[in-house]
Amino acid sequence: MTGPRHGADARLRGLALNTATLGHNLEGRGAGWPVERVIDACAARGLGGIVFWRREIGARAAEIGERVRGAGMEVTGLCRAPYLAGPLALPSRDAIMDDFRAAIDMAAALGTKVLTIVTGGVEPGTRGIAPTLELIADRVAEAAPLAAACGVSLALEPLHPVYAGDRAALVTMRDAVDLCDRIGAPNVGVACDVYHVWWDRTLPAELARAGCARILGFHLCDWLADTRDVLLDRGMMGDGVADLAAIGRAVRAAGFAGCAEVEVFSARNWWLRPPDEVLDVMVERFLALG
Ligand code: ZN
Repeated sequence: MTGPRHGADARLRGLALNTATLGHNLEGRGAGWPVERVIDACAARGLGGIVFWRREIGARAAEIGERVRGAGMEVTGLCRAPYLAGPLALPSRDAIMDDFRAAIDMAAALGTKVLTIVTGGVEPGTRGIAPTLELIADRVAEAAPLAAACGVSLALEPLHPVYAGDRAALVTMRDAVDLCDRIGAPNVGVACDVYHVWWDRTLPAELARAGCARILGFHLCDWLADTRDVLLDRGMMGDGVADLAAIGRAVRAAGFAGCAEVEVFSARNWWLRPPDEVLDVMVERFLALG
């Protein structure tokens, strides 16, 4: 295993790779590097952590967690809990909650403190987002004690409103913080992904309302002005129109001290490039944010 490059910028300890950036969240995308190679490449660049997707981990959670820590990094988070509601969710409440518990168990075995939740869209048979948010609150509240017993926090990630129908009825930081208040569990918080919330001028105030104990993740990419696909055409930091420096300041001002994770879904651009190049550009762009 390779160690950090001599003289790696200390600021990179605050950077984590979300492996989606290398195409790892979708079968057959990206260069298909094995987990071990990803870990070594991140360690060699002096990164502080890695965020994995469940499909990469399989039955190897403990082993992979150990390998990451052995390379001097942390497992910053795990993506993700199943959709808890909506048209893409598993067909029954029992199946959803079983898979939710499996995700919590995997996070615990991996040794990460954060399991990200993408809530799922509007529940079939209902209209608007309010009934679905109630359903989500109930399901997260039910799972929170088990997660707490495993040392895992649950990060509710609001998605851009374009996804409200199918992927996430939770679309603003305001509603995310309200959900946390309603659930009232100490291990339930929010994830701030710039792709989804960059446009929201109430974001700094809502992050402050969340407070440092409830901000569990900070996801970086950029919003391309000419976005061609809202799912798989994210930009690398600096290529788009989001004020990443200002959002970063708001997240830090609210007290978040963890790694920023770079999460770029990019079927037409970054996933077509060699992973070493993607990682080098990611590092360069992160440092350029200041
Ligand atoms: Zn995200």
